[in-house]
Amino acid sequence: MKILRTIGEAQKLTTSLRKKNKTIGFVPTMGYLHEGHLSLVKAARKKADVVIVSIYVNPLQFGPKEDLSKYPRDFKRDELLCRKAEVDYIFYPDDKQMYPDKFSTYVTVENITSILEGRIRPEHFKGVTTIVLKLFNIVQPHFSVFGQKDAQQVAVIKKMNADLNVNTKIIVSPTVREADGLAMSSRNVYLTKEQRADAPYLQKSLQYAKRKILLEGYNKDIEFLEGQMSKLIKSRKTATKIDYISFNDYYTLEEIKSLKNSNNSAILISLAVRFGKVRLIDNIVIKR
Ligand code: AMP
Repeated sequence: MKILRTIGEAQKLTTSLRKKNKTIGFVPTMGYLHEGHLSLVKAARKKADVVIVSIYVNPLQFGPKEDLSKYPRDFKRDELLCRKAEVDYIFYPDDKQMYPDKFSTYVTVENITSILEGRIRPEHFKGVTTIVLKLFNIVQPHFSVFGQKDAQQVAVIKKMNADLNVNTKIIVSPTVREADGLAMSSRNVYLTKEQRADAPYLQKSLQYAKRKILLEGYNKDIEFLEGQMSKLIKSRKTATKIDYISFNDYYTLEEIKSLKNSNNSAILISLAVRFGKVRLIDNIVIKR
């Protein structure tokens, strides 16, 4: 396994791999790797000749009051985990490489970025699409693997790729969870013992809604379901604020106001909840 620190060496490598007809599979991450990230690597490993993981905490996708400076980092540990997972290259640039002085070009996907996460984190997706397109141009992957955990991110990147004719396939990999249902996340390390004990209620409330819909049919009222989910979450003392609970079309992210007349082939139920200063997201998909 090799570590690439500059855009120049990475681009030279990927250009030569492409000439040799090697399939490049790419997994972009912000590091502090866990089993969720490693499941994406595994999915890439199955299909690619060469697997490239990027580790870069992208300042552009953090809001001014967010946790950029405190975001957990441990490159040595990440390096070891990548080696074990048979990654071929880690792309590990610094801020000067990615955003040199006078950097002034940004990628903005409109509409679907102003709802859900985008409503609470207004500049977030502009940061995500800008860095992801830069990474695609550097790594030149045939396909890239993203986690279902960030369902809106997947929809936004797919839209960017379609609108800008970006030539990399997006593969979506299922959310990896702790034994009690909590979605793995680098941010879980911030949780206190009490918050950690309450956090699985995110998944519990999503499971509740899915069960109700599957057992009792699509005539269930969304307001009722949201109310019950909200009650479940608020029953936990450390859950201090629900940013949103939302029902959307999985592919277009269009909001679903009533299940009765809906004919969406897949419904995304997603939520964001704060446990003190720690903000967690999760989702579930119901396919018809
Ligand atoms: P991050 O390092 O948090 O930016 O995440 C990098 C990639 O890993 C994204 O595509 C995430 O959706 C994905 N990811 C994060 N947590 C999980 C998880 N628990 N299961 C599956 N994928 C995940």
